[in-house]
Amino acid sequence: MLLINGKTTSEQIKSEIAQRVAEIKKEGGKIPHLAAILVGNDGASQTYVGAKVKSCQQVGFESTLVRLEETVTEEELLKAVADINENPEIDGLIVQLPLPKHISVEKVTNKIKPEKDVDGFTPSNVGRMTLGWPSYVAATPYGIVELLKRYDIETSGKHCVVIGRSHIVGSPMSILMARNEYPGNCTVTLTHSRTKNLPEITKTADILIVAIGKPEFVTAEMVKEGATVIDVGIHRIADESKKSGFRLIGDVKFDEVAAKASAITPVPGGVGPMTIASLLYNTLLAAEGKIYSK
Ligand code: NAD
Repeated sequence: MLLINGKTTSEQIKSEIAQRVAEIKKEGGKIPHLAAILVGNDGASQTYVGAKVKSCQQVGFESTLVRLEETVTEEELLKAVADINENPEIDGLIVQLPLPKHISVEKVTNKIKPEKDVDGFTPSNVGRMTLGWPSYVAATPYGIVELLKRYDIETSGKHCVVIGRSHIVGSPMSILMARNEYPGNCTVTLTHSRTKNLPEITKTADILIVAIGKPEFVTAEMVKEGATVIDVGIHRIADESKKSGFRLIGDVKFDEVAAKASAITPVPGGVGPMTIASLLYNTLLAAEGKIYSK
């Protein structure tokens, strides 16, 4: 069984990015600059944004964190996005989700200039990705594609089953796995909450990508012998033996599924670390005008 190690792969990608930043510096070019907007005091969101800002420092990017109160109005948030859109110093912008209920995620996402949308969430980038045009691909699916590539997983002609149809993971994943390039060229089945006989479908998967958001949902009986299993889920569960008081598990029952799979991503240390590496990579692409010419 091959353990697909997202931690070491993401470190490798970050060091490749850091190397490119060093070259840009030497050439006297502009250092990539990522801005993040964080609304409110949600603990998980603060951790995610903190990790993103720290990773920027790690690879030599500039970063700006804009913090707004939970009570910020939609208009004020849209204005903050517009200011960053117009700021020539900033190459990439992310707005950390979720947003407070009184703010429309659609309006805010749509306000982000596609050229700076390094999360790949705007209609323009989703549309371009779907058409196979140059685009910023959402960080989690992009990270998975990169893992499949770097671990040389054969995808052409395989049956890929995706569990979950969210806009940020499942849906884009299904499009990427069906596209006419590597990794891709799969026959894809996208499953969701209304899917009937899920285990019968997952048992036919050569590649199973799980983004259901339910702890240890996928068990060995649901998996075909020799499948490649990608676990996107992240859940904190109480564990008194840990200093933190918790440990992380995925959407897949790791031990029993690993015994059957030919390749699998662990949680933690699988898809999670790749998400930030992909975001940094998109920011580098933005700074260098590789997706939309500057
Ligand atoms: P979501 O909650 O938005 O979507 C869950 C999907 O599962 C839905 O599309 C739903 O239709 C489907 N579903 C629910 N019950 C089902 C069933 N019985 N059979 C088949 N499908 C069913 O989830 P999400 O935002 O895509 O996230 C999924 C998981 O991945 C979560 O645990 C989340 O924390 C994690 N996540 C991790 C990363 C990362 O960087 N590793 C990034 C994003 C999300």
